[in-house]
Amino acid sequence: MPLHLLPRRAFLRRALLAGTSLLAARPLFAAESSRWALLSDTHIGPKPDTLARETNMADHLRTSVQEVLALKSSLAGVFVNGDCALKAGLLEEYATFTALVQPLVAAGLPLHFTLGNHDDRAHFWQALQVAAEAARPVPGKHVSVVKSPLANWFLLDSLDVVDKAPGKLEAAQRDWLAKSLDEHKDKPALVMVHHNPHLDPAKPNGALQDTAELLEILLPRKHVKALFFGHSHKWDLKERDGLHLVNLPAVAYPFAKDQPTGWVDCRLTASSTTLELHAHNAQHPAHGKPVELKWRS
Ligand SMILES: [Zn+2]
Repeated sequence: MPLHLLPRRAFLRRALLAGTSLLAARPLFAAESSRWALLSDTHIGPKPDTLARETNMADHLRTSVQEVLALKSSLAGVFVNGDCALKAGLLEEYATFTALVQPLVAAGLPLHFTLGNHDDRAHFWQALQVAAEAARPVPGKHVSVVKSPLANWFLLDSLDVVDKAPGKLEAAQRDWLAKSLDEHKDKPALVMVHHNPHLDPAKPNGALQDTAELLEILLPRKHVKALFFGHSHKWDLKERDGLHLVNLPAVAYPFAKDQPTGWVDCRLTASSTTLELHAHNAQHPAHGKPVELKWRS
C-alpha cells in the first residue's frame, strides 16, 4: 500500500531472525485490535529545537509517541491527521517528523496519514518514499480506506493551497467518498479529514470550504457514525443529526490558552467509541476523562 507507513523493514528483520516464513510470522501489531491512537497537527519544524508559539513541537510529539508506545501491544495502529509539518511541508520538516515517529514504526505499529494545509503532497510522498505517480483512488489526492474488525476508516485529503488556511475536497474526491461509503455498508464508517467543518456562518471560513456538500454525503448514510478532524487545534465533541463531530486537539500547540495539547486514545466497540484525551498537561480538566459516544442507528 503506497499510502501508509508500514513497518516493513522491522517486520522482515524479525521474521528472518525468527527463521520463519513471512506468511507464518505473526504480525507485530494488534491487527484485530479495536484501539487506535489519534494524533493531529504535529507541526514539526525543520529542526528538533524549532520553536513556535513558545512551544518545542518535537518535545510534544516525542512525549506523545512515548505514551502511544506504552500501549503498543493493544493498538491496531496510529493516525496522524494532517499538518505534520510546521508551515509549508518542507523536506527538512518531514525529515525531522519521520525521525520522531520512527519509534512507532520500529514497534511494528502501522501509521496512517491525512494531509493538512501546512503539508506539501509531493514532499510528503517523497519523504515517505511513496511513488508520486502511483495509482490512487482519487488522482492527485492522498485518500484511503483502512479496514478493521469493528469499523472502516475513510481518510480524506483536504489540502488545497500549501500554507493557506482553507481546505477543500472537491467533486472527484466527494464522489469517491460517496461511492466507497456505499460499498462498505457492512460496518460503521468513521471519516477523518484535516479541516474542521465550517458550521457557523457567522465566523470567517478558514475551514473546509465544501462542508455542506460533505455533510450531504455523511448525514443520510446512517452507517457513518463519526467525523474526526483537526485544524482548529481544539479538543471538542459535537453532534449533528446523531453524527459525532470529533475535533482532535493538536499535538503541537493550542490557538486558545485554555485548550489542551496531546493525543486521543480511541477504543471501538460494535456500537460506540470511548475517547480519552492524553494531554501534555495532566492538570487539564479534560485529561484522562473517558467519554463514550454511542453510534446512531
Ligand atoms: Zn494545524
